[in-house]
Amino acid sequence: MTQTAPAQPPRVDDGQARFASLDPRTGEVVGHHVVHTEADVHEAVRVARSAAAFWSDLGFDGRKARLDAWRRLLVKRLDEFQALISAETGKSADDARTEVALVIDHLHWAAKSASKVLGKRKVSSGLLMYNHAASLEYRPLGVVGVIGPWNYPAFTPMGSIAYALAAGNAVVFKPSEYTPGVGEFLSAAFGEVVPEFPVFTVVTGFGETGAAVCSSGVDKVAFTGSTVTGKKVMAACAGSLTPVLVECGGKDPLIVAEDADVRSAAESAVWGGIFNAGQTCAGVERVYVAAAVYDEFVRLVTERASKLRPGGEPDADFGPITMPRQVDVIASHVADALDRGGRAVVGGLESVRPPYVEPIVLVDVPDESTAVTEETFGPTLVIRKVADADEAVRLANSLRYGLGATVFSRNRGEELAARLRCGMVSVNAVLAYASVPGLPFGGVGDSGFGRIHGEDGLREFTYAHAVTRKRFGALLDPMTYDRGSRTMKHIIRLVRLLYGR
Ligand code: NDP
Repeated sequence: MTQTAPAQPPRVDDGQARFASLDPRTGEVVGHHVVHTEADVHEAVRVARSAAAFWSDLGFDGRKARLDAWRRLLVKRLDEFQALISAETGKSADDARTEVALVIDHLHWAAKSASKVLGKRKVSSGLLMYNHAASLEYRPLGVVGVIGPWNYPAFTPMGSIAYALAAGNAVVFKPSEYTPGVGEFLSAAFGEVVPEFPVFTVVTGFGETGAAVCSSGVDKVAFTGSTVTGKKVMAACAGSLTPVLVECGGKDPLIVAEDADVRSAAESAVWGGIFNAGQTCAGVERVYVAAAVYDEFVRLVTERASKLRPGGEPDADFGPITMPRQVDVIASHVADALDRGGRAVVGGLESVRPPYVEPIVLVDVPDESTAVTEETFGPTLVIRKVADADEAVRLANSLRYGLGATVFSRNRGEELAARLRCGMVSVNAVLAYASVPGLPFGGVGDSGFGRIHGEDGLREFTYAHAVTRKRFGALLDPMTYDRGSRTMKHIIRLVRLLYGR
């Protein structure tokens, strides 16, 4: 059923301010949620602080046992979880199942790896301090505020939530106003396996509720969303010197080199650009194809993409545009590309039929078009012919965004990957890095900074705590007023001998 959802979920006032989350496929109400005020958020963070002490005191093994129990519960409720994600985002059942599978795999990795990555370990004490034992551990920060988007309402915030919890922090999570139910589902399931204290709580509402997380005194804010909001979050956190992790948007390129498996590259471009209706931060938006294989690539992409249809049924190829105002952004980028002389080889402006957008593939689009320079976040691809893979690398690196990238090449994949200015690259596959829990995920430039996932993602929610212990007196000790000129002479002689060559 085609309908136009309101620009923002309606606010329902029944004494306590509430709002409804809607199914973007039908406009039906999925659930009602409280609009948490600034005072509510600050209280949630205050309560979370005592919960943080309990959680941290459980230690790595105690936390792993609870996180494993949470994972098993999520697996048990997989169908319910998937249906809720589909209802609040409109995404197809299989796109939602893919998201749930990724959540569970990452949760498993974070729980399993925290002790090894963050636990106390010995560090070499070096030449001058040879008489000291040195050790290092990574301690939890306390309470982490997580602010999440709607496009992957479980996988994206869980990249912060699961890793922050595994590191020993309490979490207060503000989900997108479009997907509050998914946040509450995760927190309620966690509460069943950790009933003692509110270690992981959810506050719902609009942008003001998110802003209240920034002013609440949390020990870190992990934000995922648009670059525009990311800048506001960073500014709000600056006053209290609250550290921030900022995961923002992208305009990710896919490079098809002269020696690529063209069929596989075309299939990956179509899937990477269109699954989840193109609403993927690291989805493929720009494609640079070497002239030698360009015609074949465009033919294969056209053939494949023109068969895909969005819809509201669970087995649709992909779902609607979740956030109604994004439809205008998609239409404006397509219009800009066409106005500047671009051509649509699949679809066109008529493909924009809210809440659905059918696949649109554009060619001959000038590099200055917003369809090339700005995040479109729709099921669109812009394909650009280049002389060779080297020109593709130059153009791929030409934007301020730098989240992920894809390279298709039989012989030069890793060499080309190394030259791309971005956080992650998949060679001969698309988005593979996001599914590897041990790899860090995050961008550079306008795509943000800091990392979720992997060892870096665990350390992101900790501070390093270093200790030295003097084991015995040194023959040469420079850190005393009794050191004398002879000691210093010997030390400098040693430094020259060992490090001067
Ligand atoms: P937004 O920036 O609009 O919102 C993100 C979150 O911030 C929402 O929870 C929002 O609440 C909240 N928020 C809004 N205003 C403020 C404020 N002033 N202070 C604090 N929080 C605030 O992004 P979207 O939800 O539209 O998500 C899409 C974007 O997310 C895309 O740009 C996408 O590329 C990016 N993204 C990045 C990922 C990454 O890992 N790099 C992964 C997934 C998405 P509310 O919704 O209630 O307004």
